[in-house]
Amino acid sequence: MMTMMRTILIILVSLSVSDVSYASFEEARQEMVTKQLAARGIADTRVLSAMAKVPRHEFVPEELQDEAYIDSPLPIGYRQTISQPYIVAFMTQALAPKADDKILEVGTGSGYQAAVLAELVAEVYTIEIVHELAVSAKDRLKRLAYKNIQVRSGDGYLGWQEAAPFDAIMVTAGADHIPQPLIDQLQSGGKLIMPVGTRLFQDLQILRKDDSGKVKVEKVLPVRFVPLTRKTAN
Ligand code: SAH
Repeated sequence: MMTMMRTILIILVSLSVSDVSYASFEEARQEMVTKQLAARGIADTRVLSAMAKVPRHEFVPEELQDEAYIDSPLPIGYRQTISQPYIVAFMTQALAPKADDKILEVGTGSGYQAAVLAELVAEVYTIEIVHELAVSAKDRLKRLAYKNIQVRSGDGYLGWQEAAPFDAIMVTAGADHIPQPLIDQLQSGGKLIMPVGTRLFQDLQILRKDDSGKVKVEKVLPVRFVPLTRKTAN
């Protein structure tokens, strides 16, 4: 009898513990949206809803789950990082994604940015150069039931020719120039966003391609991203 009661008690306690931690991830995420995003000028309600929905704690290493909603990038292994929530929201809002868009992301990392985009558009193509990260992001996105994201392991400098043109392109690793293959694979009327600069200091640049194919570039925010690497340089 005592053993049975103890078992029931343990079950009840563990149920409530898992309930509490679920509620607190939800709460932490809501607070992230209010305090880190809305309060700092992210106004696009579709972007705010996507950020409120995607479970960021599922995209960080298990031992960092409690920090998933803090105002900071976090390590995801292989010397790479998941970007700060504000930067993810800022870049997403800057692209002004539409529901029927097809978007290319270069630098899948954890898959978090791809998931945020997938909440907003029809199709997301994402490329990651570190094979292990590409594989784990693909598994994670499948487990979370994202059906509109294609993940490829490879060099995103070259884009994804077979799926081009893209309505918008987001590069989440920094370089000293915008890769020409990506400009070529951008639809007329489309936008590309990417950190451009030195290894330590970059600006987010937005490139717009007009209907005649002419491009214009604008700097919008100083940032610091991990570098865009090439297979041959490794
Ligand atoms: N968007 C990611 C974080 C990006 S970190 C997220 O939401 O988690 C930048 C990523 O770009 C790293 O994972 C890095 O391995 C990858 N990367 C660097 N150079 C690349 C290239 N040439 N092609 C594709 N991915 C690249």
